[in-house]
Amino acid sequence: MITFSISRTMDDPVKVEALQIIDQKGHLLIDVSDKIWEYAEIALTEQKSSQLLEEVLEKEGFRVEKDVADLPTAFVATFGSGSPVIGILAEYDALPGLSQDSTPFKKVLDEEGNGHGCGHNLFGAGSLGAALALKGVMEKYDLRGTLRLYGCPAEEDVGGKVYMARAGLFDDLDACLAWHPDYSTSVDLDSSQAIDDLQVEFFGKTAHAAFDPWMGHSALDAAEMMTFGVNLLREHVKPSVRIHYVITDGGKVPNIVPEYAKVWIWVRDLDRAGVKTVVEKVEKIVEGSAIATSTSYKINTMGSYHEMLINRRGSEIMQKNLEAIGAISYTEDEILYAKKIQKETEVSEKGMDPAIEGLKEPEKYPEGGSTDVAEVSWITPTIHLSTTCAPFGIPWHSWAVVASSKHPIGYKGMFLAAKVLATTALDLFRSPDVLKEMKKEFDEKRKGYTYKSGISPDQKPPIRIKRK
Ligand SMILES: [Zn+2]
Repeated sequence: MITFSISRTMDDPVKVEALQIIDQKGHLLIDVSDKIWEYAEIALTEQKSSQLLEEVLEKEGFRVEKDVADLPTAFVATFGSGSPVIGILAEYDALPGLSQDSTPFKKVLDEEGNGHGCGHNLFGAGSLGAALALKGVMEKYDLRGTLRLYGCPAEEDVGGKVYMARAGLFDDLDACLAWHPDYSTSVDLDSSQAIDDLQVEFFGKTAHAAFDPWMGHSALDAAEMMTFGVNLLREHVKPSVRIHYVITDGGKVPNIVPEYAKVWIWVRDLDRAGVKTVVEKVEKIVEGSAIATSTSYKINTMGSYHEMLINRRGSEIMQKNLEAIGAISYTEDEILYAKKIQKETEVSEKGMDPAIEGLKEPEKYPEGGSTDVAEVSWITPTIHLSTTCAPFGIPWHSWAVVASSKHPIGYKGMFLAAKVLATTALDLFRSPDVLKEMKKEFDEKRKGYTYKSGISPDQKPPIRIKRK
């Protein structure tokens, strides 16, 4: 038997009721989370996962708009009307090749399968829990306003929110809330890295590689020159820059001069300006490589994220709720499970870390990583939470996270997130002054900048499934 309840010092009866709804819906949320874990659908194939969330939301009385922003697996679920308009983000995509059972040791379920190595099954179901609790109390206490749950696909790939932001889906929000599974618990005051996701294609001319090679123009030569140039460029970029690539197409057999090659490359830095500087240099390298090899080229910007714009006022409100709800407690069996995973992954056997971190000053150089939540953060004040869903210190994007995401240690983090999101959103629905303060800070920090998508208006997301 799993116990979800965590210590509670809330004295606000509306909030207490919201928390109770999450406890009552506990089995539904675990069921949704487990199903998404089992579907393990990777970016832009999240058909069953999005359908499940849509069905539950419709059944619970939300109006659900499906297939939004050219993304068949994205949706917007709405309850209520008028202002304020508060958004909650949900994700549900898995990672390729991480099939794993819910065991504290590596056990592949399906050699060809995928797995929730980032815990997005918990993310989706936790945000659903917050939305259901909010709807319950909004109805009962006749609270004014609009609640939106955004079903955001492909966080692990092109970033569904990039396309949803470009389509203007977040434009009328007064604030937005999101969370992510982690191995510690905090309201996040660190930014994230800005990134451009580029696919570079080279087009050459085939020939027999031995009989008449002088007739050919090798697209692979261009790709190799490009990556060589990029590697030389590394010496002349700021230490905060990260560049990584793979060659996804480099020809089929050695005896045909390759007429097509493709390099998939990501450029990251602390902010958009930094990314732009490096990308302009990469574009020159691509052009030069094409000239030198008598090939032509095309650069497609598949995704482009800003750095996260932090909202301190909103974070303070969330921190209060997090502290009032309190830290997660674990059974001995759960701690044992965590320690076994730590032993297997060769990290210190510390078990779980449920401690609630205080609000810190933002790091000047946030740890490596980018998120498409950042796009939303430049459109509306955005607050972000991390909760403990996995053993401390384990490698992320690994089998160990998959094993934790269908287990009480994962569920408990999901419930904590649902509760913090619901109570924080309640504060925003009921306090126009707080929303005003958050907006003021947001306007000061973005210094007149209005959100501009990094992808071109006609760039279509890569659709990988048949539409419903
Ligand atoms: Zn993730």
